[in-house]
Amino acid sequence: MSTPRIGVLALQGDTREHLSALREAGATATPVRRLSELDAVDALVIPGGESTTMSHLLRDFDLLDPLRKRLLDGMPAYGACAGMILLASEILDAGSVGREAVPLGGIDMTVRRNAFGRQVDSFEEDIEFQGLDDPVHAVFIRAPWVERVGDGVQVLGSAAGHAVAVRQGPVLATAFHPEMTGDRRIHRLFVDMVTGKR
Ligand code: GLN
Repeated sequence: MSTPRIGVLALQGDTREHLSALREAGATATPVRRLSELDAVDALVIPGGESTTMSHLLRDFDLLDPLRKRLLDGMPAYGACAGMILLASEILDAGSVGREAVPLGGIDMTVRRNAFGRQVDSFEEDIEFQGLDDPVHAVFIRAPWVERVGDGVQVLGSAAGHAVAVRQGPVLATAFHPEMTGDRRIHRLFVDMVTGKR
């Protein structure tokens, strides 16, 4: 696969920024709102936004089960912030009853929603990221953190003593928003994961 076709879930959240970041990182990037669009991509980015709203829209657009199935079948995926929450296998503080964020199970991990948000709504920090030479400038906005990872999950970065970047096989998640900085190293990592280079 030379130029992978990567979708960005476009139900809610900062879809456009990920589409540009993926294009700059060398992928063909397309928005995904319906099943035919999901079927047409090699991999999917789930952007930041609001995981409870996205969960409802996934149901409304009949994408929830097909997306779970693609992940089970090994589709590469990258989730940032709300996307990290959705890719978890278990979500703590998932939201009010009837409006919870739903776990898609792409990574065997427990994520606490709005974990940093209860302490400080948003902050920025330079963090070490495994596999990258220089630190990443990480922007956190009402961000989750990871409280448990299963066997086979690599922690790639941490902030304030909590894992905030993880990978399990072809699935990557960050609690922060690399699409909001000009640094494309994380999107390039994901593109390389999709093509099997990294
Ligand atoms: N707090 C949001 C949620 O629960 C995530 C925030 C974000 O994506 N910047 O989905």
